[in-house]
Amino acid sequence: MNRAPSPGRGPAKPRVSIHWFRRDLRTADNHGLYRALQDHGAVLGLFIFDVEILSRLEDREDRRVDFIHRALTGLRYEIGEAGGGILVEHGQPLEAWRRVLEKFEVTAVTTNHDHEPRAIARDKAVGELLASRGIPFRTFKDTSVFERDEVMKGDGTPYTVFTPYSRRWRESWTPECVRPFPSARHLDRLWRSRSLPMPSLGDIGFRETDLDVPSHRLPVALLRHYPKTRDFPAVAGTSRLGVHLRFGTVSPRAIAARAREESDTFLNELIWREFFMQILWHHPRVERRPFRAEYEAVPWSRDDAAFAAWCEGCTGYPIVDAGMRELRATGFMHNRVRMVTASFLAKHLLVDWRLGEAWFARWLLDFELSSNNGNWQWAAGCGCDAAPYFRVFSPERQQEKFDPDGAYVRRWIPELGTTDYPQPIVDHAFARKRAIETYRKALESK
Ligand code: FAD
Repeated sequence: MNRAPSPGRGPAKPRVSIHWFRRDLRTADNHGLYRALQDHGAVLGLFIFDVEILSRLEDREDRRVDFIHRALTGLRYEIGEAGGGILVEHGQPLEAWRRVLEKFEVTAVTTNHDHEPRAIARDKAVGELLASRGIPFRTFKDTSVFERDEVMKGDGTPYTVFTPYSRRWRESWTPECVRPFPSARHLDRLWRSRSLPMPSLGDIGFRETDLDVPSHRLPVALLRHYPKTRDFPAVAGTSRLGVHLRFGTVSPRAIAARAREESDTFLNELIWREFFMQILWHHPRVERRPFRAEYEAVPWSRDDAAFAAWCEGCTGYPIVDAGMRELRATGFMHNRVRMVTASFLAKHLLVDWRLGEAWFARWLLDFELSSNNGNWQWAAGCGCDAAPYFRVFSPERQQEKFDPDGAYVRRWIPELGTTDYPQPIVDHAFARKRAIETYRKALESK
């Protein structure tokens, strides 16, 4: 497919179409890649390690960067086996694109949607650059079954309450929604390239981590038992697919199709994911502000010591501390424990939920802006479909219910039961009353 040199103008640039990989690091059932292979051919893959994202990360050992690097290594191998190549750039996206356009004659570009506010701005800038060179730029739905305004109320406005949204989501389902795109079958239409170099983790300023990549398989037995096991953090009863859904190392359509066949409870969780995605799409202000504006009035405490104790897992409440330590040690925290720890920060300690949200964003392997933000707002009471402010989880009660024999808390707190373990930093009954009073007064003042 390489062009012959044209006389007098130096060697001609290779003529390719490009599929820009971002949150879709797979060759199978990839909508945008499929369209590139079908409609354009001579497809070169591109991935950009975006310095605007990387420079905001606080740790040079970041499990997400390591995960992406490993996923890309696998993708590069697969594409290489099929005779193609993937170009891996490191830099500011617009500059990286300019470099690509210098090296290649690009006929068309495809990519899959990314709905985070920064991604929307990035894609707009890249779209303008490509348009200025007359290069068509097409984007496709791939990260969810439904998106944007596909699941709306009868009056055409977006849902803000989960239950009716999930009902409409289910009614909107057709087999067509999850029909796989057979991208992997058309890899013979990749641009035939020599192997392209790939930067190492060190080249992009990071180090290898202790990342233990969760399996991307979804066993039938897990789905069958999910309704009974999903709430117990000591049990391996959830899928751990979060990071794979985040970076597209599994197909969200395939996972949803499996869930619909085998477990409605599991499907419901996937619908929560899409619910929060459409909340962020329709209400991008939630990235920084409470969904319910009246919660701006809550006077958050500036207790740095309490926040530090929460971050380090030293609050004296075992289920909170176990969760916070699990997060640091592994990049994962069980959903039930995420709910308890988040509620504890926003209600028991009255610390601004946005600080907790940022801490989770720093450490969670499966960090997803829409889900993290939506769930934090839910826990703090200020979200669209949030727990009412006067419902304050009791950490002890949650532990009795969901970790009855203490297996989970003992796993993460070896000094539990000894004098090395701290006393509770705040009394539950006092904190509960204080939270309800503080929230009530703030809301009444609005
Ligand atoms: P499973 O129980 O196996 O669920 C399957 C999938 O469904 C998950 O991988 C996820 O994609 C989706 N899902 C499940 N529960 C939720 C939920 N409540 N909201 C949205 N999607 C859900 N999830 C993230 O993916 N990224 C985050 O950054 C994130 N931050 C959270 C912060 C807080 C304070 C809370 C309470 C929850 C957060 N969640 C987040 C939701 C949930 O805790 C995780 O999705 C889940 O624990 C991931 O583990 P799993 O893959 O084994 O989930």
